[in-house]
Amino acid sequence: MKTKLGLLYGGKSAEHQVSLQTALAVIKALDLEKFEIHPIYINVEGRWIKGPQLTEPVEHVKALEFSEGNQLSPLSLAPALFQAEQQERQPLDVIFPLLHGPNGEDGTVQGLLELLNLPYVGNGVLASAAGMDKVVMKNIFAQAGLAQVNYVAFIKSEWESAKEAAYAKVEAELGYPCFVKPANLGSSVGISKCRNQAELEAAFVEAFQFDRKVIIEEGVVAREIEVGVLGNDDPECSVAGEIVPKMDFYDYKAKYEDGETALIIPAEISDQEYEELKEMAVRAFKALDCSGLVRADFFLTKEGKVLINEVNTMPGFTPFSMFPLLWKHTGVEYPQLIERLVGLAQERHAVKQ
Ligand code: ATP
Ligand code: MG
Ligand code: MG
Ligand code: MG
Repeated sequence: MKTKLGLLYGGKSAEHQVSLQTALAVIKALDLEKFEIHPIYINVEGRWIKGPQLTEPVEHVKALEFSEGNQLSPLSLAPALFQAEQQERQPLDVIFPLLHGPNGEDGTVQGLLELLNLPYVGNGVLASAAGMDKVVMKNIFAQAGLAQVNYVAFIKSEWESAKEAAYAKVEAELGYPCFVKPANLGSSVGISKCRNQAELEAAFVEAFQFDRKVIIEEGVVAREIEVGVLGNDDPECSVAGEIVPKMDFYDYKAKYEDGETALIIPAEISDQEYEELKEMAVRAFKALDCSGLVRADFFLTKEGKVLINEVNTMPGFTPFSMFPLLWKHTGVEYPQLIERLVGLAQERHAVKQ
C-alpha cells in the first residue's frame, strides 16, 4: 500500500519562496510506487489550498502555487474530516511540513498536527518553538554547557523606550563587529553585520521589521561548519560541511540567488574537531528535545575553538541545500533521506500512541 503523504509548503513567512523550491524538489524525488502525494499549499496570506493529488510522474510540474479554487480548512486534515470532505478512502498517513520560519518551523503547525493526531516529519512543538527563537535556543544551549558567542536581546518596546541605552549595552557587552538578527527567522532574512553605531541603529530598524524581538551577537572571525543530525532518540550525524561565502557573510542572496557560495563537503577539519562537532550537535539536539532532523551550524575559530551558532529544525531541503548534500556524502541519497524522515515520523507517532 502506498503511503499517503501530505506535503505542506509555502507558508506565511519571509521564507515562502524557499519553501516552494523545496516542495518542488521533494515532489520530483518521491517514488510514486511508494507514495501518493497530496500537495497542500499555504499562500502568503496564510490560506490553505489543496492542490491536485499527484499520482503520475511529475517532471513537468513547474509551479506549485495553486489558485484560490480549492480552499481547505486546516482542521479538515483531521483524519475523520479529511475522509469525509475529500471523499477519499483513507486519511493521510504522514504530513511533511516543508515550511521554514514562523508559522511553519516554529511549532505552530506542529501543534495543529498534534491536535489532529497526524504523524508528521521533523521536530515536535517544543523543539520547533525553542529552535525558532534564537534567544530561547541560546539560553538552552548555555544551560547545556555548549560554547557559543556572547549575545544580548531586546524586545521592540524596550528598544523604543531607551534606544541609546540599548546601543550602549551592545557596545559595552559585545563591541563591533556584531550581528543583529530578528529572533525568529532564518535564511539570513533581516540580519545585518554592524561595524559602528550608525550601522547598529539601521540594523535594529531592519530587524524589527520582521520580529518584535531581536538578538545581537558578538561577531566572530571563524570558519562556518555545519553537521546534519538525523534520528529520534538515538540520532546520527552526517559528515561535516563548510560554507565559504564570497560575500561578507552568508546572507540571503548568497544562500539562494548568486550561487557563488562554495559548500565544501566533507569539510577539511581534524578528526578531533569532527568528533567535537558531532558531540556538540547531538548535545544540542537533545537539549532542545529534537526529533527527526536538524542542521547544526557552528563557528570554528582560528584557535580551533568550536562554537555553536544555531540549529535549524527545518533546514533548507532542496537537493542542493547543505543538509541533503551532507547526507548524500554520508551515503544517504535524497530520495532515501525523505523516506528515512517519513519512517522516523511514523516511529515517533507510534511511540506516542
Ligand atoms: P539559516 O537558518 O538559513 O542558517 P539564519 O537566518 O538562522 O540562517 P544565522 O545562521 O544565525 O542566520 O546567520 C546567518 C549567517 O550570518 C551565518 O551563516 C554567518 O555567515 C553570519 N553570522 C551570523 N552570526 C554571526 C556571528 N555571531 N559572527 C560571525 N558571523 C555570523
Ligand atoms: Mg537558522
Ligand atoms: Mg532556518
Ligand atoms: Mg544558520
